[in-house]
Amino acid sequence: MSQMNTLLEVSGVSVSFDGFKAINNLSFQIGPAELRAVIGPNGAGKTTFMDIVTGKTRPDEGRVLFGEKSVSLLAMSEAKIAQAGVGRKFQKPTVFEEQSVHENLMMALKAPRVWWSVLTFRPEAPDMARVQELADQVGLRDQLDRIAGELSHGQKQWLEIGMLLAQEPRLLLVDEPAAGMTPEEREHTTDLLVEAAKTRAVVVVEHDMEFVRRLNCKVTVLHEGSVLAEGGLDHVTANPDVIDVYLGR
Ligand code: ADP
Repeated sequence: MSQMNTLLEVSGVSVSFDGFKAINNLSFQIGPAELRAVIGPNGAGKTTFMDIVTGKTRPDEGRVLFGEKSVSLLAMSEAKIAQAGVGRKFQKPTVFEEQSVHENLMMALKAPRVWWSVLTFRPEAPDMARVQELADQVGLRDQLDRIAGELSHGQKQWLEIGMLLAQEPRLLLVDEPAAGMTPEEREHTTDLLVEAAKTRAVVVVEHDMEFVRRLNCKVTVLHEGSVLAEGGLDHVTANPDVIDVYLGR
């Protein structure tokens, strides 16, 4: 890896769907305890980028290296990539609605995500302290006994983030976490992500510029499958190309 403090290095990655280049010579790096916002217009390649990192989509060319040993993620299955420490939060919350917050967190502590849907919760599991710690981390300490299906949209999102944190990912990819949230929930989500990024890399794909501003981190702007601009939010939003393709519309 080119830099000592790089956790993920994507370089020269391209992928085409039926001849259409969705990702075009994309390069991206993130450090081991870094928060990064990824923005860009619809169709810019944000989802495909996350699909490549998590192994869902294989690029036609380029490299995706992870960790101190610069292991190539391209040779690994999705499950192996998750095991290696890459977690992903899709936009829609996916928690076990019939089970309590406590049971959801316990499930996440006990098994890799790929097993969650087929596991039955075993109540003898003793790791209460860790469950409480996770609930604290995501602001659900008072909600441990509630059934997940009764939580607000925002609380479900936090629960799922807590479940992902239980897996101790080194890199967490989060897709539009603030969508559908109240202003208070957004604020809490910002705090949660900033805190999570103190001990791991967190990539947040987001459209809401106010939310991105509050994250107060480096921003990568994607356009037509490439990086159009990168830097602080004020820097990238002053870029005429970014205004042209994204903000000015
Ligand atoms: P974003 O998440 O930034 O909106 P996407 O990564 O979803 O962008 O899509 C990038 C481009 O690739 C879009 O033009 C989209 O239509 C196209 N694309 C994505 N996935 C596929 C696919 N499986 N087959 C064909 N085209 C795709």
